Amino acid sequence: MKDKLNRFIERLNILREESLYRSVTNYTPLSATHVSKDGKDYLMMASNNYLGLTHNLQVKEAAKKAVELYGTGSGGSRLTSGSHILFEKLEQELAVFKSAESALVFNTGYMANVGTISGLMSKNDIIISDELNHASIIDGCRLSRAQCMVYPHKDMNALADILKKLYDRNDAVKLIVTDSVFSMDGDIAPLDEICYLASKYDALVMVDDAHATGVLGNGHGSAEYFNLKGKIDIQLGTFSKALASEGGFVAAKQVLVDYLINHARSYIFSTALSPADIAAAREALHIIATDNSYVKKLQENVAIMKKYLQKESIEICTQTPIFPIVVHDNDLALNVAKILYDDGIILSAIRPPTVPKNQSRLRLTVTAAHTKEELHFVAEKLGQILKK
Ligand SMILES: *Cc1c(COP(=O)(O)O)cnc(C)c1O
Repeated sequence: MKDKLNRFIERLNILREESLYRSVTNYTPLSATHVSKDGKDYLMMASNNYLGLTHNLQVKEAAKKAVELYGTGSGGSRLTSGSHILFEKLEQELAVFKSAESALVFNTGYMANVGTISGLMSKNDIIISDELNHASIIDGCRLSRAQCMVYPHKDMNALADILKKLYDRNDAVKLIVTDSVFSMDGDIAPLDEICYLASKYDALVMVDDAHATGVLGNGHGSAEYFNLKGKIDIQLGTFSKALASEGGFVAAKQVLVDYLINHARSYIFSTALSPADIAAAREALHIIATDNSYVKKLQENVAIMKKYLQKESIEICTQTPIFPIVVHDNDLALNVAKILYDDGIILSAIRPPTVPKNQSRLRLTVTAAHTKEELHFVAEKLGQILKK
């Protein structure tokens, strides 16, 4: 047996040598922004819990009530026995929230991307994808077996050139797919230009709003931010970030939702989410839709953090809660994260393959639940470490 495992041991050793080895640390959550480990308190600056709603009283109560009323697990896939009544309500509410005709819930954002792209697109079709798109988009493209054409990050001339070349491919469905807020850089795709090109060249547009829902505009996401409500063919989102729960969804025309119910394998062949997951997501969505103070607070905190970092000569021109502090070197990223950790701050060192080679970074995220004092503390510490 040892011999058969040797290859894996060797391959892991190579990862260690390149400072690319990954391992898991388990924490005890204390609040939306604090966790503990071995009795020590840490400030969380790496989470996507953008509005801090994981610890919101109403959201927690909604999840508890759902358990009381409907039990813990769903017991089956959506098409067999697992589609409890909460799904119907959530999908209606999502469609309204995203100004779409219909919506469909998946178990994770990852599964929503993989299932939607591979479900809609087939061998003869063409996907046109930004080079920095999330791994779940890339996996969906691969599974679809469609032809995949990748354009340089946000390069609209390159996208236009690709579409021009495909002009006479009327036999194929053409799908442009992009993150709206890029997960590791925090920058925003030029959706207005993408939609313009798509309508000119007869392509569908799919945006991944994982980091935009609850963040951009009044929280409705990238379509609202760009004044493109009702104009984006497929809007994908996740409940796992600002919506404080688990699960993913797409909002689209009814015909596309019907098609996905029949073709998206990650939707068909997996047990439906539990009542507590859905109830928490619904309550978080309700809060964002009716009270914009959380989104406003988040945007305020982003501006404050930018200012504090500027004072430390760390210039990050982000318009989102994602602050990429690019240090390039894998070791350096790990070292800075380690020093911060010893000071009681958790910030992720992001290395390849999550980002391109030589683009290792610290990915700092700000939430609505952080205090000014906490943001100031983190900026100062970062300033001290990076000046050395
Ligand atoms: C997190 C993320 C996903 C996956 O969502 P999960 O619900 O965590 O599976 C998809 N796309 C992007 C851009 C993401 O950042």
